[in-house]
Amino acid sequence: MIATLLEYRDLSSTIRHFTFEVPERLDFQPGQFASLNAMVGGKEITRAYSLAAASKGDNRFEICLNLVEDGVFSPHLFALKVGENVLLKGIYGAFLWRQPPMDTILVATGTGIVPFRAMLQDHYCRGSEKRDITLIYGTRHAENLLWAEEFRALEANHAGFRFVPTVTRPDQDWKGEAGRVQPILLGLLGDRKDVQVYACGLKEMVDSVRALCKERGLERRQIIFEKYD
Ligand SMILES: Cc1cc2nc3c(=O)[nH]c(=O)nc-3n(C[C@H](O)[C@H](O)[C@H](O)COP(=O)(O)OP(=O)(O)OC[C@H]3O[C@@H](n4cnc5c(N)ncnc54)[C@H](O)[C@@H]3O)c2cc1C
Repeated sequence: MIATLLEYRDLSSTIRHFTFEVPERLDFQPGQFASLNAMVGGKEITRAYSLAAASKGDNRFEICLNLVEDGVFSPHLFALKVGENVLLKGIYGAFLWRQPPMDTILVATGTGIVPFRAMLQDHYCRGSEKRDITLIYGTRHAENLLWAEEFRALEANHAGFRFVPTVTRPDQDWKGEAGRVQPILLGLLGDRKDVQVYACGLKEMVDSVRALCKERGLERRQIIFEKYD
């Protein structure tokens, strides 16, 4: 299906939020991804992008991505002008809220935050399901923490939600956590076994979070993950 770029917004010098429109209504679940396809340099290329916002029941979808300098598809998307097209091959993925609801720790690094934004929008808009959620979100620099104001607002408005941003290269003004997401996760887990851990980002972080959770005695079904590479 043809997907036309409707608008975009730069969230930092290397991260862009895109809104696309398709000819028909799109239904998807928060946590799923769009499979996009285009001819780049004479080759057909397909890449996955998590949906950055919960479905509004219309014909639009949002994605948000990092410009990978020596990449193939991300530079193509960054060069796309409003009104130009890519192909949406489909919406897929099983990175979804798991039942029964349990207290939940979300762990994201970099653009791994994208599906969590959609999942949190959906969760707090439904409002019916009871689970306490802590979001641990790590980036290198504070300026690359996406939607931090949205997550802080969620924390202010929902007693069961906690936002724990952390940066590995803090500047003088940074007042939050510093360092990687893993020690924060371990501190929150303690010896709790009654939690679900969701992790999203590049393979290195996701694999390390899975290993730590297994060492702490969580079962496989309690560790839900999405790897970007
Ligand atoms: C299910 C799924 C969902 C994804 N959702 C997103 C998303 O919401 N936002 C997003 O930015 N990317 C996302 N990705 C990654 C995306 O599909 C591409 O791999 C990425 O845009 C790089 O493609 P490329 O053709 O430009 O680079 P390639 O030429 O394919 O180069 C790949 C290199 O880029 C690195 N890379 C891949 N993804 C990233 C990233 N996000 N940040 C930094 N380096 C990266 C890889 O480690 C590898 O070294 C997702 C991947 C999967 C499998």
